[in-house]
Amino acid sequence: MSARNILVINCGSSSIKFALVNEARDDFLLSGLAERLGSPEAVLHWQQGEVRDSLVIPGADHRLALSQLLPIVQRVAGGELHGIGHRVVHGGEHFNAASRLDDASLRAIRQIAPLAPLHNPANLQGIEAAMKLFPELVQVAVFDTAFHQSLPEHAYRYAVPDALYREHGVRRYGFHGTSHRYVSRRAAELSGLQPGASSWLVAHLGNGCSTCAVENGRSLDTSMGLTPLEGLVMGTRSGDVDPNLHGHLARVLGWSLERIDAMLNKDSGLLGLSGLSNDMRSLEQAREQGHPGASLAIEVFCYRLAKSLAAMSCALRRLDGLVFTGGIGENSALVRSTTIGHLRLLGLQLDETANARCVRGVAGAIQAADHPRVLVVPTNEERQIALDTLTLLDI
Ligand code: ADP
Repeated sequence: MSARNILVINCGSSSIKFALVNEARDDFLLSGLAERLGSPEAVLHWQQGEVRDSLVIPGADHRLALSQLLPIVQRVAGGELHGIGHRVVHGGEHFNAASRLDDASLRAIRQIAPLAPLHNPANLQGIEAAMKLFPELVQVAVFDTAFHQSLPEHAYRYAVPDALYREHGVRRYGFHGTSHRYVSRRAAELSGLQPGASSWLVAHLGNGCSTCAVENGRSLDTSMGLTPLEGLVMGTRSGDVDPNLHGHLARVLGWSLERIDAMLNKDSGLLGLSGLSNDMRSLEQAREQGHPGASLAIEVFCYRLAKSLAAMSCALRRLDGLVFTGGIGENSALVRSTTIGHLRLLGLQLDETANARCVRGVAGAIQAADHPRVLVVPTNEERQIALDTLTLLDI
């Protein structure tokens, strides 16, 4: 059988990110983005190798954008598209693995939507459009939460009244599971260890950030919770704050829940602390030029990350290595070095030459000699989604 092609789709409320993955190749055959859907400025961008192109699709919705994309995908795939893998943010307690999309799984994703009111309905829009356009293809949902369904109860429960969990699903779910699963497996492969017999701390640091403790291929704890707001400092999200902050701001400033939600999700994190940017690259440049807000934002980011990693170590019986991934984890030698500087009690120390070398997609070990392993491993969520889709094609 020749190598198969899978289209990976990630739908937001007004965008569709896509990648065409061939199982035998590391690079994407095609990748791109449809954005500003539902507006007069809707546009489809794609890239095949070095060639970039775009098409304006004024007023297009998800379905129209996908129908414009289809002939491009079929051309690049030589008419051989074998399945579609959809990223779905929240799988609740219903999904502990990827699932073929059918009436029952669609119903379950709809039922879970109250847990992810911004994300799941947008994911569903894309799924429904793709199922109408490609009824003959196997389509699969891959959930950000599924990998963390192996958390033990003492890690996933909040100390709030039991009925909130039993009746309303209030618990920690965790996100970025596809990335944590992919990079912990790659870390084992790169280290000559068995994924099923090795233990990792993973820091996924992109616009959203989370840590995860992975033992023998299973997630045992993670920093995000009921929603992706919990845990680390992120681009625009605050991460952990005192839960009484909501009540405090409502009482003292008269702020509504919506305003507090927006502040914590959109105006906080690196952006809020620095007063400058949510983008780590910009903050590193500003710090070089002596911007105090940028320095503070990076310091808080790294200290809080180190604290979270130390906390995650409670879940493990052994440590085979710490893994950095995501745009910041894969590129910022400064963040890696500052964070590891706070983790001396775990015995971690970096080789700064190796640390500086691992940027822009270069994977490798960056620890100093005779210290526990620290790895930089580029993530590839699209590839993991394609692999999960392929697995379900075979069943
Ligand atoms: P997303 O979560 O949207 O997929 P990414 O994983 O692409 O995001 O990560 C985006 C973050 O990575 C941004 O904060 C960006 O500044 C940071 N980043 C990318 N390249 C570098 C770099 N060379 N140095 C420092 N930070 C970088």
